[in-house]
Amino acid sequence: MNQNQKPRVSLLAAALFCRCPRCGRGRLFDGYLKIRPGCEACGLSFAGSDTGDGPAFFIMMPLCIITAVLALLLEVFATPPMWVHLVIWPVFIVLFAGFTLRPVKAAMVALQYRFRDVEKAEDVV
Ligand SMILES: [Zn+2]
Repeated sequence: MNQNQKPRVSLLAAALFCRCPRCGRGRLFDGYLKIRPGCEACGLSFAGSDTGDGPAFFIMMPLCIITAVLALLLEVFATPPMWVHLVIWPVFIVLFAGFTLRPVKAAMVALQYRFRDVEKAEDVV
């Protein structure tokens, strides 16, 4: 399959379902966050996809703001004992980050596929 073909899947669908950014059928991850070597459906290589710390950064920044605002609102309107904060917010942070990390990483891979240098892209044989 030619790298210059237009993707058949939207960026949002590829991100939400963690699928291949070109065909939308093949799985992107092998495990929780490990990217597969290539798409099993269309043969697109994911070897050039390196998101680095990008997904963690784009989750951490809004998560910090959301958590701080919610903790302040809880404190102002309910004034719970401190142990309630110590139980609620670590669980909230872990769950929020855990559920959003894969789609955000898939979105970054899809963005790299659409806008990266064509020279880096290769098909898996
Ligand atoms: Zn594919």
